[in-house]
Amino acid sequence: MERMADLPQPRPSVAGIPAYVAGRPPTPREGVTTFKLSSNELPYPPLPGVLEAATAAAAAMNRYPDMGNTELYAALADRLGVEVANLAAGTGSTAVIYQLLSAYCGPGAEVVHPWRSFEAYPIAIAAAGATAVGVPLTADGRHDLDAMLAAVTDRTAVLILCTPNNPTGPALSHTEVAAVLDRIPGRVLVILDEAYREFVRSDDPVDGVALLGKHPNLTLTRTFSKAYGLAGLRVGYAVAAEPIAAAVRAVGLPFGVSAPAQAAAVASLAAEVALAERVDRVVAERDRVVAGLAAAGYDVPDPQGNFVWLELGDTTAGFATAADEVGLMVRPFTAPGTNRGCRVTIGETDANTRFLDLARRLD
Ligand SMILES: *Cc1c(COP(=O)(O)O)cnc(C)c1O
Repeated sequence: MERMADLPQPRPSVAGIPAYVAGRPPTPREGVTTFKLSSNELPYPPLPGVLEAATAAAAAMNRYPDMGNTELYAALADRLGVEVANLAAGTGSTAVIYQLLSAYCGPGAEVVHPWRSFEAYPIAIAAAGATAVGVPLTADGRHDLDAMLAAVTDRTAVLILCTPNNPTGPALSHTEVAAVLDRIPGRVLVILDEAYREFVRSDDPVDGVALLGKHPNLTLTRTFSKAYGLAGLRVGYAVAAEPIAAAVRAVGLPFGVSAPAQAAAVASLAAEVALAERVDRVVAERDRVVAGLAAAGYDVPDPQGNFVWLELGDTTAGFATAADEVGLMVRPFTAPGTNRGCRVTIGETDANTRFLDLARRLD
């Protein structure tokens, strides 16, 4: 047996990396259609033409993918009205966030982020060797922007905004994000995580691309995993000023985004009309769920993504178990200290109806 001191040791911060708790698949139940409402996936099959494009690309799996993501960047640049040099793709926007943190955080760097929010943030921050500064949400599940700005110090390298916020749901407005960018020092990188942007219905939605011109310290991160329904293929991207996009590409895994993922993303961008229909369907179901929850006496934060948040405190685990028993897998957040509750994805119509029935019964 080797003595411990003789063995390779990871950086001390690695031991402090929290575990990612993935949404679980539903428990199979005899004679019951079960539904996975635990990972904010889209319940629909790929958009028209997407499976064919991905399958055709998969036929060349003996070859490495196009490392330059040429067709994907061209399609995105055209769609967004930016240059290819402003884009950096990765294996999901989670990977893009890892790349941003590894490029911009040196030893001792702090990253200010909302909490509770996307659980990958503290993991990615610790993985980069930086220090997470989580700023509690307001009572209605929103970012406390004043407190976040007050948490910015000389050590702050990055500030993360998540809109709509996972898991609580509310979105930031364009006015709010513009005000943060006006107030924060230009040397702080601001990551605007827009994973659920397609589902936002607001009078003042964030126009991230418009903000980029005035704020060269801003990065948008977007994904094909949610509204586009490509969670299994792993593709997301950053939109940023050229030096930031170049840094994200520089630290990226070579050949990260597979050829089927690139082809599926390009084909999905071409299926804009069908995409809009699907997103509208999810939003209509979200409205129905919110109305049903309100009628049952639940006070949910304004959901602007494809999920709703029930703040349940001590009854969180019980609610999740009761949901599992009726064939619905939801995502409970039970760790003490911050918001405890269940995040429930807007899914198939039958799934949403069953969820409302359960919520009424447990109310
Ligand atoms: C799902 C999600 C992402 C992106 O996920 P990927 O599948 O890695 O693209 C990013 N941010 C938030 C807040 C999310 O919920």
